[in-house]
Amino acid sequence: MTPPPEIEKILFTEEQIQARIKDVGAEISEAYAGRELKLISVLKGSVFFLTALARAITIPVKIDFLAISSFSSNRAAPGVVRISKDLDESLEGEDVLLVEDIVDTGLTVRYLLHTLAGRQPNSLAVCTFLDKTPRRLVQAPVRFRCFEIPDRFVVGFGLDYNQLYRNLPYVAVMKL
Ligand code: 5GP
Repeated sequence: MTPPPEIEKILFTEEQIQARIKDVGAEISEAYAGRELKLISVLKGSVFFLTALARAITIPVKIDFLAISSFSSNRAAPGVVRISKDLDESLEGEDVLLVEDIVDTGLTVRYLLHTLAGRQPNSLAVCTFLDKTPRRLVQAPVRFRCFEIPDRFVVGFGLDYNQLYRNLPYVAVMKL
């Protein structure tokens, strides 16, 4: 597929992504062997990663979704987040894995972990597709990650720019 002109460069190809997700799926299956896992995906970006990851996990999984909205859409001043669509089911006694598309400042993950921990899960951990560690403002305990990335704005594989480019099968740096 020829990248659109707004794309500066491809960071991870479709093949690299599939191979890495397979490895992380195996890592998760081993870490939770003999148990059942609930994957929680944050709409909309992480849905693409969730469906690929779920297929790479070999233990039984359940899935549930939530949506959040940020009060600030300004990247330079990340705002407070709130849940705009809650999960359908309880987390009580479940082994829960929060599946994220990208951890940037860490503020979203910190908020979600705090909220979900209050629902009495048996365990709670984070798996992120991309980890933009250079921009971290707060500690965000990421247990599983596919790729670390530099401080660049990326799109594709679920990640958008004004709701576009989510369907690109690769991860690319935008010309901004
Ligand atoms: P946080 O800063 O709270 O860790 O991440 C907040 C959100 O910012 C992410 O869930 C994602 O929606 C968005 N975000 C951060 N970096 C990028 C990026 O490089 N590309 C895209 N498309 N979204 C990003």
